Amino acid sequence: MATMLLLTFLISSLIMVTVGLAIDSMEILRLGIDGQLSVDPSDVETASLDFGLLTRGQPLAVLHPVSAQDISQVVKAVYGSNQGMTVSARGHGHSINGQAQTTNGVVIQMSGRKGGNKPPRPRVWSEERYVDVWGGELWIDVLKSTLEYGLAPKSWTDCLYLSVGGTLSNAGISGQAFNHGPQISNVYELDVVTGKGEVLTCSEDENTELFHAVLGGLGQFGIITRARISLEPAPKMVRWIRVLYSNFSAFTSDQEHLISLHAEPSNQKFDYVEGFVIVDEGLINNWRSSLLSPQNPVKISTLFPSGGVLYCLEIAKNYHESTAQTIDQEVEFLLKKLNFISTSGFTTDLLYVDFLDRVHKAELKLRSKGLWEVPHPWLNLFIPSSKIAEFDKGLFKGILGNKTSGPILIYPMNKNKWDHRSSVVTPDEGVFYLVALLRSALDNEEETQSLEYLNNQNRQILRYCDEAGIKVKRYLPHYTTQQEWMDHFGNKWDRFYEMKMEFDPRHILASGQRIFTPTFPSSSNMPS
Ligand code: FAD
Repeated sequence: MATMLLLTFLISSLIMVTVGLAIDSMEILRLGIDGQLSVDPSDVETASLDFGLLTRGQPLAVLHPVSAQDISQVVKAVYGSNQGMTVSARGHGHSINGQAQTTNGVVIQMSGRKGGNKPPRPRVWSEERYVDVWGGELWIDVLKSTLEYGLAPKSWTDCLYLSVGGTLSNAGISGQAFNHGPQISNVYELDVVTGKGEVLTCSEDENTELFHAVLGGLGQFGIITRARISLEPAPKMVRWIRVLYSNFSAFTSDQEHLISLHAEPSNQKFDYVEGFVIVDEGLINNWRSSLLSPQNPVKISTLFPSGGVLYCLEIAKNYHESTAQTIDQEVEFLLKKLNFISTSGFTTDLLYVDFLDRVHKAELKLRSKGLWEVPHPWLNLFIPSSKIAEFDKGLFKGILGNKTSGPILIYPMNKNKWDHRSSVVTPDEGVFYLVALLRSALDNEEETQSLEYLNNQNRQILRYCDEAGIKVKRYLPHYTTQQEWMDHFGNKWDRFYEMKMEFDPRHILASGQRIFTPTFPSSSNMPS
C-alpha cells in the first residue's frame, strides 16, 4: 500500500512539475527501485511510439529497471492502485500496432542500459550449453556474448535488434525454425514478474502452466526478466545461396522438400530455408539488395516473366573450418534435387555473425534514405500448406498487382517443432507458411504507396482469405475487439483467459495488445 501511494504520488508530482526535471533520488530510494523512473520528454516520446508508427500511446512515466525486483515494485503498486493504471513492458519497440504502449500507466523500458545501475549481462554456461539473459537483452548482444564461448543460440529472427522478451512473447521465427522450431521452442527457463508483482521462476518442471502461457503469450501473463536459452556450437561460416523460380508450385515443392529433411544428419540438409516473392523488381534495390551478389552479373530483369512473378528460394548451410572441404559436395547434392531456373544461382560465403546480422545493413541503408522511420502497415500471416497455391493466385498474381511497398517473405515451417502448450496459435496442418508483407507507407505522389491504400489492401487480403476459406492465423496479431481475439485463439481461448485471470487478474499488463481491458477493484473482472 505504501509503495502504491508513493508511486502514485511520484508519478503525479512528476507530471505536475516542469517536464525534464531530474527525479528526486530520495523518492526512488523510498520506492526501493535501483533503476530510473523517468518523465523525461524524450523517454516518454520514445515509449509513445513504435516501429509501426501507426498509433501513439501516452505513458505517464517510463521505468528503466535493473532487476526483476524493480519491476515487481512498480507492478505491485499499480496492481494495488484504483486509478486504472497499466504497465507495459517494452523491448526494442519493434511492434507495429502499439502492442508495447500504454495510455495510462508506466512503460517498463526493458532494452537499453541507462544510468549508473544496469541490468545483468548475459551469463553463459558453456558446459551446460545455455545462456541466462535479461529479458530486455537484444539478440545481437546475446549473440556477441555467446560467441565469446564459441556458442550461439539455435533459432533466430531475421533482425537481431529485437529483445528476447519481445520475440518470446510472439514466437521468434526465421529460416532455422523448420529445423529447431521457433525461439520459444528453445527456452529452458524463465523468470517472470506476474500482473500481481510476484517474481516467479518457471520451466517445464516448475510453474509449468505459467511457462507455457508466457511463451507466445503477447505479454499477457508476466514480464520476462530472465530467459535461459539453449545454445549450440557456433558455426564459423555460412554458404548463402539464392535461386529463382517462375513456377510457384516448383518453388513450394522444393521448399517443403527441404524442410522435410529436418530429421536428417546435418550434412544432408540446409540449416536455413526461407524465400521471398518478387513482384516488383525495384524493391530489390532497397531491402534485399544484399541478396544479389555483386560478383554475379545475371540481371534479374532478364529472368522476369512478362507481367509475372518470381520466387526466390533462400537457403544457407553452416560450416566450420573442419567441414570446409566437404561443403561443396554437400551443397551440390542438395541443389541437384531442386527445380529452380538453372541460370539463376547467387552464392556468397560469409561469416556466421554477418549472415545472422544481414538485415541490419538493410536498416542502415533505409535509414540513410529516410525510408526507415515511416509508417509500416505490416501484415504477417500463417497459411496452411494445402492453401498456399490458392493464396498465390489470389495475392501474388492478383490483389498485389506489381507494386508491393516492401519485401514479401514466404517460407514453410514444420508444426511438430512448435509446442502446442505455448500460447501461440498456428494453422491446423503439419506444414504451414509464413507470408510476411513488410510494407512501408510513403507520403509521396504515388497512391499505391500511401498508408490508406496499403491499409485497404491489407483488409482486402484478409477478406479474400476469408471468402476463399483459407484459414489463416495472424502472426504478430492485432485486433480491436475481444470477439476477434476469441476467434484468433479458437480452442486455446478458454485456457488463455483462465491463465490471464490467474496471473494478471486486473488486466494491467500489455494493455496495448487490446485483448483485455484493465479492471478496477470495484468493477467486474470481465473485460467489457
Ligand atoms: P516490443 O515491440 O517492445 O514488444 C512487443 C510485445 O511484447 C509487447 O506487447 C510488449 O509488452 C511485450 N514485451 C516486450 N518485452 C517483454 C518482456 N520482457 N516480457 C513480456 N512481454 C514483453 N519477428 C520474427 O519472429 N521474426 C523476424 O524475422 C522478425 N523480424 C523483424 C524485423 C523488423 C525490422 C521488425 C520491426 C520486426 C520483426 N519481427 C520479427 C517482429 C518482432 O519479433 C516483434 O515485433 C517483437 O515483438 C519485437 O520485439 P521488441 O523487443 O521490439 O518488442
